[in-house]
Amino acid sequence: MDSQAFREAATATIDEIITYFDTLNTRNVVSSVEPGYLRKLLPSEAPQEGEPWADIQKDVEAKIMPGITHWSHPGFHAFFPCATSYPSILGELYSSALSGACFNWICSPAVTELETIVLDWLAKTLGLPPCFLSTGPTRGGGVIQGSASEAILTAMVAARDKYLRETTVPAASPLTEEEQEREDAIMIKRSRMVALATTRTHSSARKAALILGVRFRAIRVREEDGYALTKDGLAAALAECKAQGLEPFFLAATLGTTDVCSVDDFAGISEALQGWCAPPGGPGEVWVHVDAAYAGAALVCPEVQAATRIGLVGRFHSFDMNMHKWLLVNFDASCFFVRDREWLVQALSVNQAVYGNKASDGGLVTDYREWQIPLGRRFRSLKIWFVLRSYGVKGLQEYIRRSISMGEAFADALKARSDLFEIVTGPSFALTVFRLAAKEEGASLEERNALTRALYAKVNATGKMWLTSTELDGRFAIRLMTAVRTTEKEHIDMAVKTLVEVAEDVMKG
Ligand code: PLP
Repeated sequence: MDSQAFREAATATIDEIITYFDTLNTRNVVSSVEPGYLRKLLPSEAPQEGEPWADIQKDVEAKIMPGITHWSHPGFHAFFPCATSYPSILGELYSSALSGACFNWICSPAVTELETIVLDWLAKTLGLPPCFLSTGPTRGGGVIQGSASEAILTAMVAARDKYLRETTVPAASPLTEEEQEREDAIMIKRSRMVALATTRTHSSARKAALILGVRFRAIRVREEDGYALTKDGLAAALAECKAQGLEPFFLAATLGTTDVCSVDDFAGISEALQGWCAPPGGPGEVWVHVDAAYAGAALVCPEVQAATRIGLVGRFHSFDMNMHKWLLVNFDASCFFVRDREWLVQALSVNQAVYGNKASDGGLVTDYREWQIPLGRRFRSLKIWFVLRSYGVKGLQEYIRRSISMGEAFADALKARSDLFEIVTGPSFALTVFRLAAKEEGASLEERNALTRALYAKVNATGKMWLTSTELDGRFAIRLMTAVRTTEKEHIDMAVKTLVEVAEDVMKG
């Protein structure tokens, strides 16, 4: 493809993408293809001769679109959103053109420097305490990771390294007998180290512990506490670990859990950890990582910063939120902040002669390869920069407030039909969790679950919307999220109308 052919192909492609967004509403939300559908439509081998773009482009609509579930569809109320927007798409376009594996500053200084700057912008916009800024008092800073799962794994690696460094004496090599004993002691200590989370924490915390080969314990959170981790809950878990000879080194706290969008009690967590090691924050402290993958986006609004008391996260060690969920940047843009970047560098800096260079050796630059698990990295900050500049903070606030108010309108509509629905949690951060009301007094859990399941299946079968479900203490419940960029009040009204009609039907049946 030469420049002229690219110009024509790109123009045709952009036109098609615009039409896709403008007509999204006419498609079903969820793909209905059978597994293996694509193999039947494509040749078994790559073509020997190159094909014209027009032929390739035609196959996008004909062969790929049937297998696409439309995450930007206004009727997409499942999971959490996976954002996109025109400025973000433009950022991806430039990023592809400027392709590089920008792991060291010298590999493209602009890639590193823009990332540092836009993550500082973001930290300030979210109201994070100054300790998470690259220019802050604790030499903190932000780095873009591929996903919240990658961020929590990275945090846990750094936490494990910090804990071992602080609580054991490093051995020189070759090992003397005494040193060997110490190495053995480290192995024993490792086997006692435990990462804590709650029964509502995202599964990525358990997966990180699994990858690192450390113990994992989920603290039970209760409905009466809004499914949030409390001071007492954490204190009891710490005491239990101590009694069992286990050594907690990491806690995953959440701002906006996946099932119900609960927020752990940051003040309570901080208090429970006060007496854990002396002095507080001294050697052997528990690293607290705040996973705000979805709801962190809402912190662009000062009222959310105040309600969540976000300043308290300055007492913790790391914070992560996905702009690619609710902040109009397309996947992947997980923004991970640490209070002291040295914690990452100490855990993850592994040198190899081929990567040495004058700038790195001078120590004046950031080499992001030392803040992450992979070596290579893309120019992801461009799309963040474009989105922040195109929407402005005010534009982002407006969008978040609109999502939240649609969530409230949805919950109010369900409350107005309390004969049909019971709200289980929310609305919280544009997420409402509900189930069918009891048909008659004394209806069993199984009966209510079966009816709610029937409602869920029938509504999803319309193809016009997609809802996901969860289970809370044995209760099957439906989640409806109103945070997709294209969703408007009219789509919420349509969702309510459909839910009411189907619920009436199910109740009658
Ligand atoms: N944390 C929370 C609270 C989530 O809801 C999710 C996914 O929805 C994740 C982590 C995992 O996100 P990722 O796909 O970026 O790893």
